[in-house]
Amino acid sequence: MIDDLSASERLALAVREERRCARPVTVQMPDGTEQQVRCGSRLRDQCVSCSKLVVGDWAAILRSGVFAAPGASVFYMVTLTAPSFGRVHRVPRTSGSPNRRCSCGVVHQSDVDSHLRGVPVDLDGYDYDGTVRWNRDSSRLWDRTRSRLRVLMPRMQFASVREWQARGALHHHVLIRVPASEAAPREKLRGVLASVVATGYEGTRVRWGNQVDVRRLTPDGDAAKAIWYVTKALSYLGKAVADGSAANVPWQLTARLSRAASLMPCPTCLSRSRGRGTSEARPGCPLPAHRRQGAASAVVTVSRPTTDAETGETSPGWSLTGLTRTAQRAARAAWALRQRFTALPVETTSIATLATTSESIGNSISTWQALQPPRTGPPALP
Ligand SMILES: [Zn+2]
Ligand SMILES: [Zn+2]
Ligand SMILES: [Zn+2]
Repeated sequence: MIDDLSASERLALAVREERRCARPVTVQMPDGTEQQVRCGSRLRDQCVSCSKLVVGDWAAILRSGVFAAPGASVFYMVTLTAPSFGRVHRVPRTSGSPNRRCSCGVVHQSDVDSHLRGVPVDLDGYDYDGTVRWNRDSSRLWDRTRSRLRVLMPRMQFASVREWQARGALHHHVLIRVPASEAAPREKLRGVLASVVATGYEGTRVRWGNQVDVRRLTPDGDAAKAIWYVTKALSYLGKAVADGSAANVPWQLTARLSRAASLMPCPTCLSRSRGRGTSEARPGCPLPAHRRQGAASAVVTVSRPTTDAETGETSPGWSLTGLTRTAQRAARAAWALRQRFTALPVETTSIATLATTSESIGNSISTWQALQPPRTGPPALP
């Protein structure tokens, strides 16, 4: 019967299918009936529709910290990369890029050599253990960086998106907003970022790689460009790390990094073996860092609203409109409830019923999520 459809009907059908959750969850309602709700996955290969929602939600949160900003705000776009763990092939992204000689001695072509991008020149000598440990420790490094930046710019707010480089190391794109009165010169910011040192989970010193990039942006035009850039990085949210092709990491690296991450002690492995001086993974440790090339931190983080306990001074956090993932989910749940209850007589749609129903859906979803097997893919969202 589908063969009888016209091209436009077929397209409409495809669009409708794509908007539908691929693996909806059945939840029990307080009145004993069952209702289907979205799976909420951010991974595209699990559910295209929910993954689009998650990326869209985060993009809206990022935008709400830029376009609602007071005129006297200054923005910085910062890219923080990992240090070197050995030489990798340099292959230009586009044919127009200047072709420089790679350390392997060859001038690579963007099209014919794309499979070599990020692949270690010496596959056996490359530091895979160092890479996965750096991915694990980079969340500590970012915490340390954040507090150093706050000393320089106390009212700084940020939105950070973590992405994989082709060589399997995480890099961080951070959008920073500060009141113009606190804005530091670009070079000063770069100096702080280049000098930050943190202590990794196994006591080693960790720092950012040499390619610290800081751009200062003006709120009109430039900031919109930064938002476009960060939103583009958000597309990474929908990709699974364990699947090398999706994460943009070459297959030659994926297997070796996965093995190194399975043997590396994650923060939980280390805290359970404290005192025994071991630096190995606990056999069968189910924590995500072992499956995600060492990374266990969230893909996107934004600064949250805070109130100073002593002065009572409040800070808005990144979003200037108070937008959060929780608020977005609640708005969708409320919309779904309205759709459901408009079919019922008015007297049954009391506020209390709506509240209980909403809570019940929330509980069912949490229970369902807790029962799910661990997902392969990048770190879970907060
Ligand atoms: Zn879904
Ligand atoms: Zn090369
Ligand atoms: Zn572990």
